[in-house]
This record gives sequence, structure tokens and C-alpha cells, in this order.
Amino acid sequence: MAATRTFSIIKPDATRRNLTGAVTKMLEDAGLRVVASKRIQMSREQAEGFYEVHKDRPFYGELVDFMVSGPVVVQVLEGEDAVKRNRDVMGATNPADAEEGTIRKTYAESIEANSVHGSDSDENAANEIKFFFDEDEIVG
Ligand code: ADP
Ligand code: MG
Repeated sequence: MAATRTFSIIKPDATRRNLTGAVTKMLEDAGLRVVASKRIQMSREQAEGFYEVHKDRPFYGELVDFMVSGPVVVQVLEGEDAVKRNRDVMGATNPADAEEGTIRKTYAESIEANSVHGSDSDENAANEIKFFFDEDEIVG
């Protein structure tokens, strides 16, 4: 099967605790390659736009506040079946439900401060990558 791409964010709870390397190691150990990466402070407009799909959910305002509360690391990951591979190593949204050995089980603080974002489909991955990266920033 050919390599595909997905989009990842190391969230503010993880950057605050200096876990950028630890989280990235778990992604790499899961067979994913970081083909683009940058540490940014998301603007409120970016966070609102990125999580637009959740705007009617009760936690939307708090989620946006959280995502702008500190720096994040946005990454493009490449690997075989990258979307599923990444979702598997991330673990369930709520760390209380996440399996042993997953990033969220290991590092997440709460259902909101759950250390990582990962795209949930190839189509969303392509859109999310475009939201944060120009094609010439992705260098294999
Ligand atoms: P996932 O990140 O696993 O794809 P969702 O897309 O459903 O999960 O939600 C996006 C993000 O919103 C979650 O990663 C988490 O940070 C936050 N979130 C989800 N559900 C809740 C909730 N019930 N309360 C607070 N924050 C939540
Ligand atoms: Mg999601």
C-alpha cells in the first residue's frame, strides 16, 4: 500500500510540559514520518476556523481558548494508511477510554487537554494540511 499523509497537532498541554519530542517519538515509532513541522502560536481566528465543524458543540468556546493558550506544533505525517495509523497511536478522545500505549493514555490531561489532534479522514487531512502548510514546506 502506498504512503499517505495526515495532519497532526501537538496541543498546548503537551508543549507546556515539554513533550514535543516524546510525542513525536511515539508517532515515529508507530511508523509515521514527520515530513513537515512548525511550532506556532495559533491565532484565535485560526483556531476558530480550524474547529469550525465543532462550532455548535457546547465545548467549542473552551476548546478555542485552550488551543490558543500556548504554542502548538503542527505537523504533516506520512506513512502507510497514515490517517488510521495516527488515530490508532493517538488513542480515544477521552484519555480515560484510551488504550495502554497510546499517546493520549500516556500523556493527556483531560478530554479537552488531550495532547494531540489527528485528521479523521483522507479528505479532512488534505484540507487541514492546506490550512497550515504551503506545498513547498513539505519536504518528504
Ligand atoms: P478527536 O480529537 O479525537 O478527533 P473530536 O474531533 O470529537 O475528537 O473533538 C475535537 C477536540 O475537542 C478533542 O480532541 C478535544 O480536545 C475537544 N473535545 C472533544 N470532546 C470534548 C468534550 N466533551 N469536552 C471538552 N472538550 C472536548
Ligand atoms: Mg476530530
